[in-house]
Amino acid sequence: MLRTSGLAIAGTALSAGFPGIAEAADGADFTGRTSYDAIVVGAGLAGLTAARELRKKGRRVLVLEARGRIGGRTWTDTFNSWEIERGGAWVDPLQPHVWREISRYNLTIVADQGPERVLMPTPGGFTESDPVAAYTRQGELFTPFFDGSREYFPKPYAPFTREDLITPLDRFSLRDRLNQLAYSPADELRMTSTTGLYGSPSSRGSMLQLAQWWALAGWNYTGFSGVNTYRLAQGTIALANAILADGQPDLKLNSPVASVTQQPGRVKVVTRAGAAYTAAEVIMAVPVNVWKDIAFSPALPRAHRDATAQGYGVPRQRKLFLDLATPSDRFIAEAPEGSPFVIMGRLNDDAPVVAFSVDGTLNVADRAHVEAAVRQILPSATLRDYTVSDWEADEFSRGGPAFRQPFQLTRLHKAINQPFGPVKFCADDLALGWIGYMDGAIESGLRAAGSATLSPTPGTAPTGRVAMPAVDRKVYRSVFGL
Ligand SMILES: Cc1cc2nc3c(=O)[nH]c(=O)nc-3n(C[C@H](O)[C@H](O)[C@H](O)COP(=O)(O)OP(=O)(O)OC[C@H]3O[C@@H](n4cnc5c(N)ncnc54)[C@H](O)[C@@H]3O)c2cc1C
Repeated sequence: MLRTSGLAIAGTALSAGFPGIAEAADGADFTGRTSYDAIVVGAGLAGLTAARELRKKGRRVLVLEARGRIGGRTWTDTFNSWEIERGGAWVDPLQPHVWREISRYNLTIVADQGPERVLMPTPGGFTESDPVAAYTRQGELFTPFFDGSREYFPKPYAPFTREDLITPLDRFSLRDRLNQLAYSPADELRMTSTTGLYGSPSSRGSMLQLAQWWALAGWNYTGFSGVNTYRLAQGTIALANAILADGQPDLKLNSPVASVTQQPGRVKVVTRAGAAYTAAEVIMAVPVNVWKDIAFSPALPRAHRDATAQGYGVPRQRKLFLDLATPSDRFIAEAPEGSPFVIMGRLNDDAPVVAFSVDGTLNVADRAHVEAAVRQILPSATLRDYTVSDWEADEFSRGGPAFRQPFQLTRLHKAINQPFGPVKFCADDLALGWIGYMDGAIESGLRAAGSATLSPTPGTAPTGRVAMPAVDRKVYRSVFGL
């Protein structure tokens, strides 16, 4: 049975225990206040971070959130008896902003157990191997893909350091790079699971985007593939709640913003329900993909309009959790681009299988269709139950995590990071570093609030009080894709 279309459901009420939170979109101001120093639109990690930083500076801050929950593209939920993450899940010490927040709030990290076996595609079907062997080979295949990235991204958090070098490279898609390197058909099959997942399809995704992640991870496959190993023991919601509790902004849930109007000396923000608020400044902490749904007056600058028209959030991305009766072991299976699922796996004992699809023809509402898709990879699989989150269908994200397209770095990135008068923008889409990750959302939120960000040497982790289990990163491989 399809448990939920995921995003149509408001999720757990998160307001309990937080003063200043109103859940009803009734147009009434729960504090009686309609005028603030700052209004933050969106209670994802970027918005919550920006709101906390402004509160620390003594500002009166209102957060307007469209959904009935905080967290945005992170969403800790349950599926049968399991706790699941419908959106972002994994964090890593190589991601300094999210790691600093985890340390600040003393949150506990757990590592996935990782797969016991790996299925990789070959021209003749799937082949099974030991995880270390499989990912050693993946490392050999991916390393040349990023040749030159130390030169063109010498400072991964400052992507324009060698603008002269990245400008001519920004036209390349992931597909262009695969073609350029002329991998054998067998080798290329092993790579398009990754490029297809992020690019959706490979011809859409920017080569430089993947190369910047490679640089941020220390220019090596161990870092690149390892950033999807650790999770928050209490779920991503623990992080969102901690930031909210620390900042204590006023928060209104179920309050989608319809319009943002600049007036002399102030900005007026009106929700779909007609509630109006004003502030000296507004921080739009919503995905780039939804800017087009909000009426800005005056109209957004050209670069912002181009960005929202083109899209940043990965299209067609669906994340499913599958309750499979068989197989019951820990595995990861990667499938070539064009497959209904490009990657799926069970990473822990007694856990559901998590699967990613960017195939728009997969009918996730049809149980038989989903089971048939699973059986393309695992012919003897038996599907008991599943649940799906369709991030593109969700009107408040209109896509998955950000992944740039060719030309967006050099033609749009700087411009869309610029304030538009008193209106500023933040989201993972706008990150200088880990675009498409929680780290990028937090970094962007810090910048929008005028707070300091971190830019460590790649490969070094910031220190903190985080409980870190000892693990051999080489045997781990997460299903987020790399
Ligand atoms: C399937 C999936 C898997 C992922 N896996 C990982 C991972 O493993 N690790 C990782 O680090 N990252 C991962 N990510 C990415 C990560 O979740 C995001 O980068 C991050 O959560 C984005 O935060 P944000 O605050 O920028 O945007 P969002 O979280 O999208 O927050 C924006 C907020 O704005 C609200 N909003 C939208 N429109 C309006 C409006 N009109 N009015 C008011 N509010 C509005 C939204 O409801 C939302 O709460 C994943 C994402 C997805 C979708």
